[in-house]
Amino acid sequence: MQTIWVLGEARDGEVKRVTYELITAAREIADGASVTVVLLGDDLDGPVAEIAAHGPDAVIAVSDPGLANYSPDAWAAVLAAMARDSDPDVILGSSTARGRDLTPRVAAELGVGLASDVVEIGRDGDALTAVRPIYAGKAVQHVRVTGKPLMATIRPNSYPAAEGDGAAQVNTAAPAVAEPRAVVTIVEVSASERPDVAEADVIVSGGRGMGGPEHFAMLEELADQLGAAVGASRAAVDANWRPHSEQVGQTGKTVSPTLYIACGISGAVQHVAGMKTSKVIVAINKDPEAPIFGISDYGIVGDVFEVVPAITAALRDGDAG
Ligand code: FAD
Repeated sequence: MQTIWVLGEARDGEVKRVTYELITAAREIADGASVTVVLLGDDLDGPVAEIAAHGPDAVIAVSDPGLANYSPDAWAAVLAAMARDSDPDVILGSSTARGRDLTPRVAAELGVGLASDVVEIGRDGDALTAVRPIYAGKAVQHVRVTGKPLMATIRPNSYPAAEGDGAAQVNTAAPAVAEPRAVVTIVEVSASERPDVAEADVIVSGGRGMGGPEHFAMLEELADQLGAAVGASRAAVDANWRPHSEQVGQTGKTVSPTLYIACGISGAVQHVAGMKTSKVIVAINKDPEAPIFGISDYGIVGDVFEVVPAITAALRDGDAG
């Protein structure tokens, strides 16, 4: 029987949703193959139990104090050694910051190709087929990867999260962990109650049209009503109105939420590159000629200072319909 490995992600004991999305993607190409989530870290009991309840056939917990913090060289070496040993047919990673760093290293160690940042995968005989947006989302490329293992990284929010029935078998692995060449000494996490923009299902994003940092409070209120993350254009980030961690676009994060609300954002190609694959795009802009309307599903020509509070109030008062 064929085996598909999913490289799971968890941080601070919390499983990243993309892990469950990768399980769904793996199931779509499984055709009878078993789906195994491989999770690296330390103290993994909680995350492993949670993943096991989300529908894979097996979970391999690779727990070691030397893997407590992400280290590109140590993690890639461990995964490559395990892959050489177990010989999986397919390995799927995520296109998160960590997945983009780790998965190509594993592919390089194994001497195989990788379809990166894909939004759709399939099988064609012994090959893996994939669809990936290119040229800032202006075109899509169809790629075909051969070899063993077949490898790809999948963009978050491209597949629905798997739910499953909790019957997965849990195994542990204890491979030798080499002393990493680069050691993480400090991890600084920005404290926020809101979801991370790269993972959120709904994003309320603001640009230069918000007029100043203080007006983002208005977007935060709307985001709170929707359980959304707050995003920003580079203009807003460069002006120090918002942190870089919220920047969406070519030099920020690539997002693919179910709903993206762009407020006072013109729709420059570098911004659009990071959010074009959102399922539903709503733009609020006072300029009817703004390019953002060209890629929006719903456009509101109006002043953000009137439109945004009206939407927030309607949601709060339950008369949004
Ligand atoms: P603007 O283009 O100034 O648009 C502001 C919009 O707000 C206008 O359309 C205006 O009509 C509207 N507006 C103003 N007031 C109101 C109001 N009261 N109500 C409603 N609407 C209003 N940009 C990114 O976002 N992300 C990136 O990752 C990124 N990477 C880049 C990389 C490179 C190499 C380069 C060269 C540029 C990059 N940019 C990026 C910058 C990009 O080109 C744009 O300059 C930027 O996206 C513009 O941000 P904005 O839409 O907020 O501002």
